[in-house]
Amino acid sequence: MALRTIREYGDDVLERKCKEVKEVTPRIRELIDDMLETMYEANGVGLAAPQVGILKRIVVIDVSPEADSPIIMINPEILEADGEQTGYEGCLSLPGKSGVVTRPNHVRARAFDLDMNEYEIEGEELLARAICHELDHLDGHMYVEKVEGELVDNEELASEQEENEK
Ligand code: ZN
Repeated sequence: MALRTIREYGDDVLERKCKEVKEVTPRIRELIDDMLETMYEANGVGLAAPQVGILKRIVVIDVSPEADSPIIMINPEILEADGEQTGYEGCLSLPGKSGVVTRPNHVRARAFDLDMNEYEIEGEELLARAICHELDHLDGHMYVEKVEGELVDNEELASEQEENEK
């Protein structure tokens, strides 16, 4: 396993549509291992292959507090989305920033696992948000396109939240 360089906002690779995976080759397995390592190292809850410069339809997600429940989605597709949640969202390709985005509160999605077996997954709240965010990357979209208002610095956000708690 190895860490990969996370591409940042403004890099062309983040604006392109990714290709379907036809077969999980040893190289794809290595890519997925590296994506997981890179996501955990950066304290992220999700990472899409284009964020490490690979235009393939692969995302990894882990929203568990212990960061021990990786979800691997190959050729993912959202089947159903409902409800609404509005909250701050960030992206490893735009470090130190956050913005308010409205997303569905519940999604049901389909994807393939490492053995190319199809499975379905349902998610609410943070998981639903992460699935929507990561799948957008596969079509060349970043959350900044959906931000309501301005992007804020995470430091500012933290002090604002502290103020509100007083
Ligand atoms: Zn992102």
